[in-house]
Amino acid sequence: MHALRASVQITTRPADTPPTEAELAELVPGHDAVLCQLTEPMSRMVLEAGAAAGLRLVSQVAVGLDNVDLAACADLGIAVAHTPGVLTDATADLTMALLLAAARRLPEAERYLRAGRWDVWSLDLMAGLELRGAVLGIVGLGRIGQAVAARARGFGMRICYASPRRAPSDVEASLQAEWLPLDTLLARADVISLHVPLSADTHHLLSRARLGSVKDGAILVNTSRGGLIEEATLADALQTGPLAFAALDVFEEEPRVHPSLLDRHDVLLVPHIGSATRATRLRMAQLATDAVLDFAAGRPLQHPAR
Ligand code: NAP
Repeated sequence: MHALRASVQITTRPADTPPTEAELAELVPGHDAVLCQLTEPMSRMVLEAGAAAGLRLVSQVAVGLDNVDLAACADLGIAVAHTPGVLTDATADLTMALLLAAARRLPEAERYLRAGRWDVWSLDLMAGLELRGAVLGIVGLGRIGQAVAARARGFGMRICYASPRRAPSDVEASLQAEWLPLDTLLARADVISLHVPLSADTHHLLSRARLGSVKDGAILVNTSRGGLIEEATLADALQTGPLAFAALDVFEEEPRVHPSLLDRHDVLLVPHIGSATRATRLRMAQLATDAVLDFAAGRPLQHPAR
């Protein structure tokens, strides 16, 4: 805010609750740029209202852009900037935290101890999944997918991935990663981790049918976007198997979590904190601010949306 105030005129909106689409359509017109977060619905209606009154830039404090209608931005000549790269490590770290917690049954083990049920050490107490040799299936081997794969290699996991295009051979070689069709990956992976952007193509990528076709006992980790999973059917998939556990940072209708998941012990739920380290959040804010300042000064954007 200090950096912005020094160079451009700004209007702010209190951040206690996200604005509605109708509110944004009133607020945005008259501004050259909008600096927004994933909670703001930058829909065609909002963008058209803005473009009619001068809007030329949307600068998003996130890498995912599923709340921004990119087609409308292209039609209306509105540039879009986002914050790729600076949040890769933090998000990959949280993915590993969820993966480890799920594999080693940490939520269940902690509940067991706190409930006073631990009376003796035993050989099979809370026995979980051994990571060395287990198969990690990465869906979307982009920046974060690769960072998760590199971490998982350190734990001795075997990597396979599904992606529309095959990764460069040096990436495959360094991660010893095998490219598989999504359905083969789902049948083979002990842990499935989602790292694709949410779009019309990937909405409900893990449909009810696909959730029912995973390897017996599989763990599902999602730190990408909730809409990738048909969330209303997840509890059923866990109840009937073969899916054994889901560790979720993101949800279809945040901050609402599907009620069928809330009282289950085979899910681990955290409130969209993938990039939430102090250093990363500061770097994200800096990049989004830089985009506004570059735009105001007529310089090219450093991180335009593709
Ligand atoms: P990225 O580098 O663009 O990687 C996305 C990868 O997904 C690309 O390799 C892309 O392939 C691939 N892909 C696209 N469609 C696919 C499909 N249908 N099936 C399989 N793979 C597909 O993005 P990133 O920086 O890794 O970020 C990934 C996502 O993480 C973001 O979009 C965001 O939603 C999420 N995220 C969440 C948090 C959090 O706080 N939880 C934080 C940061 C990011 P191509 O390049 O060939 O298209």
